[in-house]
Amino acid sequence: MTATPSAHLRAALLAAIWQEGPLPAGPLLDLGERLGAQLPEVAVHLQVLLAAGLIFRDDSPVDPLYGPALDAEEAARRLHAQLAGVQACRVCGCSNTWACEGGCWWVRPDLCSSCAEAV
Ligand SMILES: [Zn+2]
Ligand SMILES: [Zn+2]
Repeated sequence: MTATPSAHLRAALLAAIWQEGPLPAGPLLDLGERLGAQLPEVAVHLQVLLAAGLIFRDDSPVDPLYGPALDAEEAARRLHAQLAGVQACRVCGCSNTWACEGGCWWVRPDLCSSCAEAV
């Protein structure tokens, strides 16, 4: 299954918010633009990610911030790998583009070192 451009965009937004967030909408729109998407499309992806509980929006600053949702990292990583169509750990969903905290490597094609230690 090849990832559609739309899935790639959602994966990229999710990773950017988790790895660099909290971020205002500006950099996320720039990211969308680099991937060929206009504002309405980026807004839809952000809505879906918000509704899925994977990110949060802080409306208190003038420029609202998008950041990682509490306790959702595994779900976010898993969805990211699925959307991006990359190899992922079957236990925690980490991938080459989104490793575990502190770093990890492949013990088996579908199992990362952090999870192998925990077993
Ligand atoms: Zn893992
Ligand atoms: Zn890992």
